[in-house]
Amino acid sequence: MGTFDWFWKAMGSTNERADKKSKGIVDRAGALAADLSSRSDDEVAAAVRSAVSEQGIVDKPLFLAGLSEAATRTLRMTPFHVQSQAVLRLLEGDVIQMDTGEGKTLVGAMAATGFALTGKRVHLITVNNYLAQRDAQWMRPLVEFFGLSVAAVTEASTRDERVAAYRCDVVYAPVAEIGFDHLRDNQITHRSQTVQAPADVALVDEADSVLIDEALVPLVLAGTVGAQQATGQITEAVSHLVEGRDYAIDAEGRNVSLTDDGARSAERALGITSLYDAEHVGDTLVRVNLALHAKALLIRDVHYIVDEGKVSLVDASRGRVAELQRWPDGLQAAVEAKEGLSVSEGGRILDSITLQALMRRYPIVCGMTGTAVEATDQLRTFYGLGVSVIERATPTRRFDEADRIYATAEEKNRAIVDEIAHLNATGQPVLVGTHDVAESEALAEALEQRGITASVLNAKNDAEEARIIAEAGDVGRVTVSTQMAGRGTDIRLGGADETAREEVVNLGGLAVIGTARHRTARLDNQLRGRAGRQGDPGLTLFFVSLEDDVVVVGGADSSVTARPGADGRIDDPRVHSFVEHCRRVTEGQLLEIHAQTWKYNKLLADHRDILDTRRAALLDTPTAWEELARCNPQRAAELEHLPEEVLNQAAREIMLFHLDDEWSEHLALMDDVRESIHLRAIARETPIDEYHRIAVREFKDLANRAVDKAEQTFADVVIDEAGAHLADAGWKRPSATWTYMVSDNPLAGSGNSFISGVANMFR
Ligand code: ADP
Ligand code: MG
Repeated sequence: MGTFDWFWKAMGSTNERADKKSKGIVDRAGALAADLSSRSDDEVAAAVRSAVSEQGIVDKPLFLAGLSEAATRTLRMTPFHVQSQAVLRLLEGDVIQMDTGEGKTLVGAMAATGFALTGKRVHLITVNNYLAQRDAQWMRPLVEFFGLSVAAVTEASTRDERVAAYRCDVVYAPVAEIGFDHLRDNQITHRSQTVQAPADVALVDEADSVLIDEALVPLVLAGTVGAQQATGQITEAVSHLVEGRDYAIDAEGRNVSLTDDGARSAERALGITSLYDAEHVGDTLVRVNLALHAKALLIRDVHYIVDEGKVSLVDASRGRVAELQRWPDGLQAAVEAKEGLSVSEGGRILDSITLQALMRRYPIVCGMTGTAVEATDQLRTFYGLGVSVIERATPTRRFDEADRIYATAEEKNRAIVDEIAHLNATGQPVLVGTHDVAESEALAEALEQRGITASVLNAKNDAEEARIIAEAGDVGRVTVSTQMAGRGTDIRLGGADETAREEVVNLGGLAVIGTARHRTARLDNQLRGRAGRQGDPGLTLFFVSLEDDVVVVGGADSSVTARPGADGRIDDPRVHSFVEHCRRVTEGQLLEIHAQTWKYNKLLADHRDILDTRRAALLDTPTAWEELARCNPQRAAELEHLPEEVLNQAAREIMLFHLDDEWSEHLALMDDVRESIHLRAIARETPIDEYHRIAVREFKDLANRAVDKAEQTFADVVIDEAGAHLADAGWKRPSATWTYMVSDNPLAGSGNSFISGVANMFR
């Protein structure tokens, strides 16, 4: 932090003042509660309405007292003081930190109701479809108490359901659905086709997941186009390259790069002078790199299988063949070519947006999570958000044990199984957090051999897994879960119905075991938070081995020596601090990657804003016709006999077609530039400056090209009563579209280390 210390301190004290102030307000609200409790529903609702105006909440104590009374009546939950404080902080636009089990769902709904009462539409963003549905249903009575409307959008929602849901005051939805609808809305050619209605506020649950961990995940809208260009020649050229001489694979096995020799060899085989010439950098070089990736890093039967002449991806994180998934555009073709298969009809990326860019579109962003403090810097830097820590309603009785560190992974794994067996023998419920599905399955098998049956959660089926994890606190249970599985579901001691609560409390509550440290303290703490909800007893314990990824990667620049005990355990303070050091290093690396990648993404986000404005003008005004008629008055005169509405729509479709088409090209081009740019770094240009220079130039060209092509099309295409016959002229919009999140893509799956390298190529 250095020079900025004073700044953060100053911010900290502002927050403290804000906290004191909100405590005062909550106290005054308490005093009003007794009076409100004797009033009718209508009177309570009216009291709350009288406490707000378009400008915001004018009488905060009355507002909170009324809302609290409404929650008591509709949900049978009377908000704790800390919850009311949290509501105030959310309404001020902060990210609040509240421990797991402290009741963030209610807090979020109260704040959303508050925003909605001031006339703002709220998107309440959940981590999955199941929680969107659950929370909307659970909180519905509270929102509707005030005559406001609420709905959920999930993956399963139909178009009509979405249209209706987005027009509600409070909309619960997972971020991906909101993003996909946004992307699809950016392909429409008539305003009436819009699905989403604008929202003023994004209130993000598990805010650090969406705003930070997944911030750079792109949401992609793809469409079918004709067959891909032949990649055969390039595959052939690359197939002769030899590792070490022609290309190098980096230490982590994530990236592969051509050496000078390799580049020359490829150039000879392709009969071109230089891959790095302007004419080749955007296309040939990229495809050579893809072919090289396919050859050097993707292994048949490990990363994909070939079945009935088709390449099917093996989903590393889920351990089964992924259906309906493809690699990003060119890579699929490269692998097909490598296997000598016919290159399938290619999808084309029509549009894509990162979660960070999506979230920044909301005028107001606020959020809630159990782990915000560790993310304070990032939340401020990337979103200008402040963090408010909300105290617990009841003090914690959770005990966090010191890490158990082992020399090797094998010794660690043995110790994990022993510890689980030991806890299980007493009946204490155990929740084990693993890093990926393969690890979960291996552990469950090892446990089975000891006669312990574990439930395994893989984030496959959120509803089903919610049901299982709700029981994770019952006597004798062992539940093994990856990071995302079962999130947002309350783990009550003694089972979901708490019948065996007393017994489990006496056993020490839920024991949470982490099989390795995560790359950030935040992720560790998310797991720890599963134990000790609402003042329950609980235990957390992490196992670490010096062979763990975090230690190997983070400790690359330093080392530690210590003597392990007979079982491989190392209990030496120097080793504990070494592990901490490694984790800080990996945390720093992630931060750096985020900051760097955002620099690249930011420019595209700005371009997208310009594009959106242009799109809106074309959709909502007669601009398209006016512009085209101005540049070609003769053609306009020929068409004058047609109804004005037909002319407007025809011109609109012509303009939008080329605008969208060029934007899609632009995205692909900028991806390619991004991929080749670090190669230019070798030529001593600053990559990001170079990228900016190209992006700005290309975007300007895009705009000009879109208009030029539209003018040309306007001159050529048949326009009659039925509108512009664009498809007949070869200007066809994709016949089908589909959406995906790149993290869905096995390429981004965890436990598959080369993957982020490839994912980087595309983002
Ligand atoms: P979080 O999202 O913070 O982990 P949840 O919103 O899932 O927590 O709530 C955890 C549990 O606490 C739920 O079972 C909920 O019913 C309960 N709860 C929350 N607030 C209250 C309250 N004011 N009074 C009683 N129970 C509450
Ligand atoms: Mg929650």
